Amino acid sequence: MSEQKYWNPVLETLPQEKLRQLQLKKFQKIFKWAYDHSKFHRRLYNQAGIKPEDIISFADIARVPTVEKSMMRDIQRKDPFPYGDALCVPLEEVTVFRQTSGTTGQPVYQPDTWQDWEWWMECWSYILWAQGYRPRDRVFIPFGYNIFVAFWAGHYAAEKIGCEVIPGGVLDTKARILKIQELKATAMMGTPTYILGMAETARMKMNIDPSELTINKITCAGECGASIPSTKKRLEEAWGAKVFDHAGATEIGAWSFECQDQPGGMHVNEAFFLVEIADVETGEIIAEPGRRGKMIITALDRQAQPCVRFDSKDVIEWSAEACSCGRTSRLIKGGVVGRADDITKVKGVLLAPSAIEEVVRNIDGLGDEYEVIVERIDDADRIKLRVEVLPEAQDQCRLIEGELADQLRLKTNLRYDLEICGCETLPRYEVKAKRFKDLRHKPKED
Ligand SMILES: [Zn+2]
Repeated sequence: MSEQKYWNPVLETLPQEKLRQLQLKKFQKIFKWAYDHSKFHRRLYNQAGIKPEDIISFADIARVPTVEKSMMRDIQRKDPFPYGDALCVPLEEVTVFRQTSGTTGQPVYQPDTWQDWEWWMECWSYILWAQGYRPRDRVFIPFGYNIFVAFWAGHYAAEKIGCEVIPGGVLDTKARILKIQELKATAMMGTPTYILGMAETARMKMNIDPSELTINKITCAGECGASIPSTKKRLEEAWGAKVFDHAGATEIGAWSFECQDQPGGMHVNEAFFLVEIADVETGEIIAEPGRRGKMIITALDRQAQPCVRFDSKDVIEWSAEACSCGRTSRLIKGGVVGRADDITKVKGVLLAPSAIEEVVRNIDGLGDEYEVIVERIDDADRIKLRVEVLPEAQDQCRLIEGELADQLRLKTNLRYDLEICGCETLPRYEVKAKRFKDLRHKPKED
């Protein structure tokens, strides 16, 4: 068992055609489940005039109305408390409460049954196995175990596949680094922001070179970073480890992962999730590779509060390539590129914040942190970019500034007001960063 290549050799190598059949079958089942057990879903589907027996082929799925996060907030004012009427099981079957982080509005509550929780763990087992986690690994989790789902399921899945797990819970960053050193941990999980920050703390405050510690693989989630090539490179060099991306969400599940072959994108776990890509403007489903749109996703097996055609607002595109690892599930190219809400027009040009990150982290001499502020001054958009120059590169500030301006113009077609800051002057973030600030209008709810 321990040396097999795939966590599930059957599902992970199923021919595409069979995968589609499986997805259709599972979609019919979860759609009927939601229709039969959730008042919220039945209302939504009745209004659209669609019933479970209408889903006969794949094409019928696009007729099913999508669910937005704001709808989930509204239903939570209804009975039963505190989840509302999308709940498909009696309250006594709910075994775990989680909530979304609420960075874009009122948090959404998420109930799971024990069966749902086992499903979370199973999904994460695919991720960890594909990234080379094996029973011999000692996995350190530098994560403040709390009300959010992040890394809880990663913890349990690591145990499930046989790893030894060290919960780094309430330890501070220095204590976590010392524990990794003391116990010779081989793997860990965190947000790119935190993992980079940890490396900085080790180097600057503890005189420890993190690449000399024993960590050989890191699973990143919560932000796009591990799929942005220059950020991935910084993470891998800092820790002397392979860094893999994963995307998941409280209200969806753990739906995608980068495999050990690092194909420049993430696999969608298609036996468990149906991912559709919709044009942001028209809603048209994009089947072909190379065109970006927002993700509409269905968790095909989740029961307590189903996720059926959820409009995630994650911007993704299909890759044209099959992965060399042999998994037949499709890849999304370059991971999650951003959020439909974050990709904004500045001076009439579409700007994805991840493109700025790619440029900043690709320039030697710049620190990991940066801050982008978009403002409207005298009816014109202005973008201020603040970066930090590392102490050893202070004498090359002008050179760095010139390269930065050139690269930004090349990659984003925009001009920036650049501000070079001293080392460690920009805000540091514990978990997820808020480096992009659009002050032109209030943040939208997602
Ligand atoms: Zn692969």
